[in-house]
Amino acid sequence: MPNFPAPVESRLPAVGTTIFTVMSALAGACGAINLSQGYPDFDAEDELFERVAHWMRAGANQYAPMAGVAALRGAISDKLATLYGTRYDAEREITVTAGATQALFTAIAALVWPGDEVVVFEPVYDSYVPAIQLQGGIVRRARLRAPDYRPDWEEVAALLGPRTRMIIVNTPHNPTATIWTAEDMAALARLTDGTGIVVLADEVYEHIVFDGVRHESMARRPALAERSVVVSSFGKTYHVTGWKVGFVAAPRQLMDEFRKVHQFNVFTVNTPVQLALADYMADAGRYLGLAAFYQAKRDRFRAALAESRFELLPSRGTYFQLARYRAIRELPDRAFVEWLTREVGVAAIPVSAFFDDGRDEQVIRFCFAKSEATLDEACARLRAL
Ligand code: PMP
Ligand code: GLN
Repeated sequence: MPNFPAPVESRLPAVGTTIFTVMSALAGACGAINLSQGYPDFDAEDELFERVAHWMRAGANQYAPMAGVAALRGAISDKLATLYGTRYDAEREITVTAGATQALFTAIAALVWPGDEVVVFEPVYDSYVPAIQLQGGIVRRARLRAPDYRPDWEEVAALLGPRTRMIIVNTPHNPTATIWTAEDMAALARLTDGTGIVVLADEVYEHIVFDGVRHESMARRPALAERSVVVSSFGKTYHVTGWKVGFVAAPRQLMDEFRKVHQFNVFTVNTPVQLALADYMADAGRYLGLAAFYQAKRDRFRAALAESRFELLPSRGTYFQLARYRAIRELPDRAFVEWLTREVGVAAIPVSAFFDDGRDEQVIRFCFAKSEATLDEACARLRAL
């Protein structure tokens, strides 16, 4: 193939391949146990696959309506109303997306103008900043500090101004495994009161909150729901990250704009999977049971590492566990996870990847969405260090 005949100026000069792809590839190349990229190593129930096969055989194989199949939007609307108390109109205020990544990107593309400021909390999930930059938005960073990674509301207040268009919130939070409290929500409501700021709420781990604590969705508070684009993902909830199906719920003025972009960057999401998910959602136990399911894995993982030389930080939600490793080796976090993957046979994510300046707090992230056998074998290797 000949070279492209002119210089290509990158729209994203600072961006390389995502850390999740890099670490999963390294884990594969080394035959390591992959606790890096966040996905389960076990399958969903057969019943879900049967529903997909049913709808495929029933001829549901052409384009779904642009906003998603009615049955699924209805099921999402019912769930949000029951759990969080806000009734979104299934027709106008809910859209099914090709995963949360597309939902987040589309929301930013639809609502952020060049020169607008967008506040993110750092360490920050890696897809937000490039999406903002592609729209010509200006990223403003609030810092979440170890070990509890709580938002500092004075710092956030100082970042807000007349150009602030959006605040991106992620709770439960990837990578820190922290959750926002009702006080955090009240602070956010106070700070945004009387402004035109949009809250983009990444709630993909909404059903993975531990120790009996409730998830503080934006949809729980009218003062926040009215300005929020709430995003979730079926990949996390039903152990099917590879299906890439999620949804967005927002007031209709925001959703109208969202759909203007959505219709041209995906148009619609695959039909039989949407219909299958609508059937599957009928049993609320399937998502309500997720917290206990993952809490058992968290507890097993933490107990198995309690005697190790890793220092475990709290894990209050998500399927991630942060750990300090200084007692094992004095290395930068990227060098440490490479060594861990190659020499110990366990892959993890360096948390510096979630900082713009590559700030290295010598903390790494493990994913415990794995079978007991996988977790036990990984922990045996980690305990030997
Ligand atoms: N946001 C967060 C915080 C995530 O952890 C992930 C995926 N791991 C996503 C968004 C993307 O979700 P999806 O796979 O549905 O695009
Ligand atoms: N969000 C997942 C994680 O944090 C990975 C998704 C991806 O690879 N983009 O590991």
